[in-house]
Amino acid sequence: MRTHEAGALHGDFDSLRPGWLAVPEDVNRLIPELWSANVERAGGVLHIGGLSVEKLAAEFGTPAYVFDEDDFRARCRAWTEAFAGADVFYASKAFCSKAVLRAAAEEGLSVDVCTAGELAVALAAGLDPARLGLHGNNKSLAELHQAVDLGVGRIVADSFQEIERLEAIAKELGKRANVMVRVNVGVEAHTHEFIATAHEDQKFGFSLAGGDAYEAARRVVHAEHLNLLGLHSHIGSQIFDTAAFEVSAARVTRLQAQLQADLGVTLGELDLGGGFGMAYTTQDDPQPPADLAASLRRIVEHECAGAGIEVPRLSIEPGRSLIGPAMFTLYEVGTVKPVTLSAGASRLYVSVDGGISDNIRTALYDATYSATLASRSSTATPALARVVGKHCESGDIVVKDEFLPADIAPGDLIAVPGTGAYCRSMGSNYNHVPRPPVVAVRNGEARVILARETVEDLLRLDLG
Ligand SMILES: *Cc1c(COP(=O)(O)O)cnc(C)c1O
Repeated sequence: MRTHEAGALHGDFDSLRPGWLAVPEDVNRLIPELWSANVERAGGVLHIGGLSVEKLAAEFGTPAYVFDEDDFRARCRAWTEAFAGADVFYASKAFCSKAVLRAAAEEGLSVDVCTAGELAVALAAGLDPARLGLHGNNKSLAELHQAVDLGVGRIVADSFQEIERLEAIAKELGKRANVMVRVNVGVEAHTHEFIATAHEDQKFGFSLAGGDAYEAARRVVHAEHLNLLGLHSHIGSQIFDTAAFEVSAARVTRLQAQLQADLGVTLGELDLGGGFGMAYTTQDDPQPPADLAASLRRIVEHECAGAGIEVPRLSIEPGRSLIGPAMFTLYEVGTVKPVTLSAGASRLYVSVDGGISDNIRTALYDATYSATLASRSSTATPALARVVGKHCESGDIVVKDEFLPADIAPGDLIAVPGTGAYCRSMGSNYNHVPRPPVVAVRNGEARVILARETVEDLLRLDLG
């Protein structure tokens, strides 16, 4: 007797399959929520803006980050429209290159940087310093000096030492620096959960509960060469629960009202930070920006009305939700190895030509991704697979759990969507693997916006 093939496979992997991961009815189907707008499967092959991934791989090599620039621009517009009357700052740490920062600025966004390196990219992209924000808990004197000198639109102060340094620098330069005070609101949000209390124990900002935030704002108000624009908060990343933002917005608005009453000033701006979630897998269900904008506005307006103060101009700082969904990573499969575990369950290890050096998030944050066979469609049954890299490290996992066709083979191309944020920007040269290029597709044309690193680039720094 011969069991039905699919039935046998189901039995084998059921003990390993995470509960959220459904066995696909059609292993070739793209889940639209996980892909950028201009990606489709045509004739079995994945295409972006009408260009096949086979063509892209032949021309630019693998691995490569493939960037749907039209999708990114559309997302920028969706956020600026939803937050009309507020300022949307693109958090450049998610992904920082001249072309992307320029595109964000062209679509009406401001840009956040947190180091001299990110600032240098923004300046090289031709961005107006007045439309930049500078963050960070330990900005160097040189970074602060450069920011004040350039007239960076807002510098977010993160410690009492920094307030003193900023005042001294602004005085020396004969300027007045625009400053926001970063408030640690005691809300910690991470993915699907948030905790509203007892999370002051981290390095960023001035504690609200402990009174430091109040004192910091007071000192900035009284500093002769500093102008306090307002308060700033940022509560975490990949957040889906609006209640976390609501608690944070309510707390920071209350502090603002108190400061205005006590100090006789009006703070014209309020920055609610970033961290809005995106969809990596079917587990994630991000809120449309319009809904998010409506609930943030409602809570700030409610708190302001209660306190009898004017509603400040809001700003937000999305990074991941703008750039993350706009890229996928294209890899070539090198080896395929079925590994049989105890109880007869088996997992297909699919090794690709990149790994932890181009996507550290799976190893670092236990992040989940999805993957698809990109260079062809397949009629084979789905096999529970794990996409791993080429590094000397067993934690070198790109996609921990995914169903791929059981006939996946060396030479096939695999695409991993949702890799626009914190993959290239956190990339490394571990094992002396040069970092992949970023290929942007716009209006059906591909161009390299970040070149592939070469072994010569790596050797250039090795002085022997
Ligand atoms: C990281 C960061 C952001 C962006 O976070 P995302 O999760 O990418 O949206 C925004 N503001 C500040 C201060 C940050 O540190």
